[in-house]
Formats: sequence, structure tokens, C-alpha cells
Amino acid sequence: MDGAVAGKLITEISRGAREVFLQHGGGTHRSGVRMSSAPEIGRDGQWDRSPDAGEKETRLQGKRHGNGTVEGVQKAEEDRESLMMELTRLVQKVVKESSWWERQGIDCAILASAFLSLPAAFLLLRSSEFLLFVLGILVMGIAHAIITIKGTHLASHGSLSESQAWGEFWAVFFIEVCGSFTARAGVTAHIKMHHAHTNILGLGDSSTWRVPFLPRSVYLFLAPLTVPIITPLVALSQLKGHTVFQKVRTVLMVSLGLYSQYWLLIHVSGFQSPASALLCMLICRAMFSLPYIHVNIFQHIGLPMFSPTRRPKRILQMTHGVLNLPRNPVLDWIFGHSLINCHVEHHLFPFLSDNMCLKVKPVVSKYLREKKLPYQEDSYLSRLRLFFHKYQELMVFAPAITELVGVQ
Ligand SMILES: [Zn+2]
Repeated sequence: MDGAVAGKLITEISRGAREVFLQHGGGTHRSGVRMSSAPEIGRDGQWDRSPDAGEKETRLQGKRHGNGTVEGVQKAEEDRESLMMELTRLVQKVVKESSWWERQGIDCAILASAFLSLPAAFLLLRSSEFLLFVLGILVMGIAHAIITIKGTHLASHGSLSESQAWGEFWAVFFIEVCGSFTARAGVTAHIKMHHAHTNILGLGDSSTWRVPFLPRSVYLFLAPLTVPIITPLVALSQLKGHTVFQKVRTVLMVSLGLYSQYWLLIHVSGFQSPASALLCMLICRAMFSLPYIHVNIFQHIGLPMFSPTRRPKRILQMTHGVLNLPRNPVLDWIFGHSLINCHVEHHLFPFLSDNMCLKVKPVVSKYLREKKLPYQEDSYLSRLRLFFHKYQELMVFAPAITELVGVQ
């Protein structure tokens, strides 16, 4: 796995989260990226409509390619638009009826409990009892995964706070201090590319997850274990283009996160040598690297990919290009619903927290099925089998473009 590729892998860790702000108040990302032409709900449940150049282009392409009469195309366009509007209205209603605890509190409590479990983990690692020591490793590995996968994802979307300043603070804290990556590069890759251009070839086609020179078994089962080592190295390589302030901040924050864990292992847990402390850090940080890489490729690669010049409407793009995994008690908690069993909901409404994605899931799935739109689901093992047996096709060769001409 080379540095650039791994960078994107890690980027995906943090790839999560500022669309919240982006769609809030004008449909424009803080960084100026438009997320959708369909009406969106801001975090406060307000409407937000914004036209999208890509989708306008789709309309023009549809006309140029004789996709029915102009009136027919316009009618179909209006239908798609109204579908997203109608669904948004239904979801907006659920959001408005939800308390702060449901909107943010539950996810904040899960993250807080991960932090609160850390003192116990450091103390358990002092133990000379084998089982207690292993329990310490387990607690620290789970806490680290919750913080660096669920936490960085929600923080990158700005879902942890309704204040923009706090949102930026949490993004730096989770992505840089805890996740050992650069907040700016992480947010850019996740928000500006992955979410804005989901399954659009050359933009958000998940190709950065491909490492074609690695044999499938190495890619699927060994390479992910190196993610904790590669992450900070890739962060350094991503600093080009950052301001001096951002560079200094990232280096300091990443160092702070790594050194503080090392220091606590030596001084609190009583590790006798630097090597043993570093090995413990690697084991804890790599504990969920395999499912992390798997989940990121399972939910997009192998599904329809679209041309940048013939983008489908957002509701079609997301329903065809995103897949949900079933509920899984371990991954639901550690990765968050938006990355596991509510990935479709997350791509349609990326500003919702994990718990709110779960709450709107019945509304979204019922609506999509009623409207005969795809609601794609598959099991973890089924996807693993597919990627193992079709590794060349899915992870080595370029994906084919899907044209949703008939339904534009
Ligand atoms: Zn996301």
C-alpha cells in the first residue's frame, strides 16, 4: 500500500463530516462546495435548496441524447426533484420531532464513554494477570476505534455541535489528535469528494481505495494492519498546500496524540520498554483496521458508477451507488450507524448524526421501496465473498460507467 493510497484510506476515516454545516444556511459547504440540487434539511430542520451545475448538465445531456421529448424530460426531472423533496419533508418531520438527546446526545454519550473507559484501560494494562491485561488491550482498542472512526466521521461532518467554531475544534481534535491525520485533507476528501461526488468516476468513485499491485489476500487481510503506521506518515505527505499555521498545528496535534498515549503506557501502565509500549499502541490502533477497510470498499465499489458529465439526480445517485450492511451490534457502536446499517440514509442526509440516521431509516427505506427506487442491502460476509472472488474485477480494473438514461 503506497503512501498516497493509504492517505485516502485514512482520509476516509475522517471523511466524514462537515456537510452538516455545508447544507445548513444556503446549501453551500463552508468551503464553497454545493452538495445537492435537491432540497436539504439543515441541522435545525430548515429547508435549503440549491441548484447544482452537474445536474443541470444532466438535464442538457438528456435532451441532447434524445431521451424523450423536452417536455418528457422536464416532467421526469420534476418527478425526481419532487421525490427528493417529498422524502426530505418526511425526514425533516422526524428531525423536528426529535429531542437534542436523540439528535446529538446519544452519539456524544457514546464518544464520551469511550474517553471515560481509557483510564480503566491504562490501569488494566498494569496488571500482571494475563486476562486482565488482554481486557485492557481490548478496552483500549475498542475505545480507540470508537473515537477515531465514529468520532472522526461525525466530527468531519460537523455533527457533534451546532456551533461552527466548536465543529472546527472537534474536527481538529478528533481527526488530528486522535486520528493522526490532517483535518483539512480529511474533510476535503470526505466532504468535497466522497459525499459531493459519490460514485462519480474520477471524483468520488472510491478508486483511492484500490491498491492493484497487492494480492487480494494481502489487501483484504494484512495491509489494513499497517494503517496505524501509515496514517501519520501520509498526513505529513498531505501537508502540501496547507498554510504554515495548519502545517505546524497538524504536526503538533498528531505528535500530541501519539506521544500522550505512549507516555501514559510507560508511566501509568508501567511498560518497561519503548518497543513494548509501541507494540501495544499498534495492536490497539489496528484492532478494527480490517473491518474499517472492508466497510469502506463494500458499500460503494461494485455498485453503479456514473460519468461526471451525465450525473443522475441526487436521489438516483445515492440509491444506486450506496449500500447498507445489516445491523451489527459491534460495528453499529464502534463505527456508527451512518457507516454500517444506515449508509444510504447518511448519503441522502449527511448532516444527520448516527442515531438520527437510525431513526429515519424506516421512513427512508419505506419511501424508497414504495417509489420503486433501489434500497440496497447485503451482508458483510456476502460482500467479503464477492470481493474475494471478484477482486480483479472490482479492485484492479476500472469500473464501468452506468447510464441511468431510462430513468433520468
Ligand atoms: Zn460521511
